[in-house]
Amino acid sequence: MRIGIIGAGQLGQMLGFAARNLGDRCRFLDPSPAPPAAVVGPVAQADFDDVEALVALATASDVLTYEFENVPVDALQSIADRVPVYPPCTALRQAQDRLLEKRLFDRLDIPLPAYHAIDSLQDLRDAVDAIGLPLVVKTRRLGYDGKGQFMLREPAQVETAWQLLGESELIAEQWVDFDYEVSAIGARSVAGDVVLYPLTRNSHQDGILRVSRAPVANNRLASRADVYMRALLEDLDYVGVLALELFVVGDELLANEFAPRVHNSGHWTIEGAVTSQFENHLRAITERPLGSTEMHGCAGMLNLIGEIPATVKTLQIGHLHDYGKAPRPGRKLGHITVLGDSEAERDRKLAEIRSSVTGVPPGSGPVS
Ligand code: AMP
Repeated sequence: MRIGIIGAGQLGQMLGFAARNLGDRCRFLDPSPAPPAAVVGPVAQADFDDVEALVALATASDVLTYEFENVPVDALQSIADRVPVYPPCTALRQAQDRLLEKRLFDRLDIPLPAYHAIDSLQDLRDAVDAIGLPLVVKTRRLGYDGKGQFMLREPAQVETAWQLLGESELIAEQWVDFDYEVSAIGARSVAGDVVLYPLTRNSHQDGILRVSRAPVANNRLASRADVYMRALLEDLDYVGVLALELFVVGDELLANEFAPRVHNSGHWTIEGAVTSQFENHLRAITERPLGSTEMHGCAGMLNLIGEIPATVKTLQIGHLHDYGKAPRPGRKLGHITVLGDSEAERDRKLAEIRSSVTGVPPGSGPVS
C-alpha cells in the first residue's frame, strides 16, 4: 500500500519504519527542510494547508493519515473525497478544540474536570465563581505541552490572565490535584474491531513528557479507561490509533484530552508489546486485522530531551531510538525503552539510564 503521511517528525519516522516491515511505502508532507521521516520516504516540503501539495500527496497515496494534530481540518476535508483520510476529520476537529473535546467527554459520560467556556472578562469572573480557585485558563486551540496556559490562583489575577490570553478563544478548567497521569492507547479498524494497550503511567516536567511506564497495576482504573476508550472510538467511528490522557484521583479517572494519532506515551510498544502502536495504526488504516497488544513483561520509556549524551549511546540495557534531530533545549531528540520481568527491574534500568543522562548517580532520588 502507498501511505501518505502529513507531518514528517519522529512519529512519521516510526510509522515509516513500521510500514517497511509491513511492505508498505510512505511519502510525507512537511514544511521543514530535513525532517526525521526523510530517512523512510520522500518528503514534499510544503505547508500543512497547501492544498496543491495535499492533492499531490493524495494522488500518490492509497490512504492518507497524519502524525500531527494541528493540520488544518478544512484543507484535509477538501481532499477526503479523493482518498480515505484516517483518523476521520470529525475526530481531528474535536481534538483541535478543547471546548468541543470536553463537550464530547461530557456527552459520552467520561468524567472530566469542571470547565467553563470563556469569551469575555466577565465569563472568566463567572468561571472563578462557578469552579473556584485555583483554575487553569487555556486557549481552546493550538495549545500543546502546556503552552497557551495561565494558572489562576488569586481573584486579582483575572485581569492579567485576560490581558495575556484574551485575544484567543479560551476555556477555564478546574485545577486537579491529581495523584498521577495516565494515558490509554487503542486502535480501531475500518471494520470496527478494537484493541487496547495496557494503561500507561506518565511523568511530565515543564509540560513535556519525560517517562512512561506500563502497565499500571490497577484493574479498576484499567477497566474504567477501557470503557471510556471504547465509547470514544465508537462514537467517533474512529479508524487508527487514539490516545486518551487522564488524571488519576484516588480510584477515579478524569479525562484531560485526546490525541487522534500515535502518541509519545506509546513508544514503549515498539519493543514492549507484540504489535507496536505504529504497526496497529497502519494495520487499522490499511484494513488489515489488528495485532495483539499483549506486553512482554513491564516496559519503561525515557525521553531524551535537548541532547543525547555520548554515555547513553553505549548503554546496554535499553533500546535507543535517535530521531536524528539537531540538539536544541527542550526538543525531543530520541527515547530509550527498557523491559523488565518485574516493575522493580524495569525501574532499576530506568534509574540507571536517568543517571547516565543527568550524570547523577542512581539512588539519588526516584526517576520521575
Ligand atoms: P495539556 O496541554 O492540557 O495537556 O496540559 C499539559 C499538562 O499540564 C498536563 O499533562 C498536566 O500535567 C497539566 N494540566 C493540564 N490541565 C490541568 C488541570 N486541569 N489540572 C491539573 N493539571 C493540569
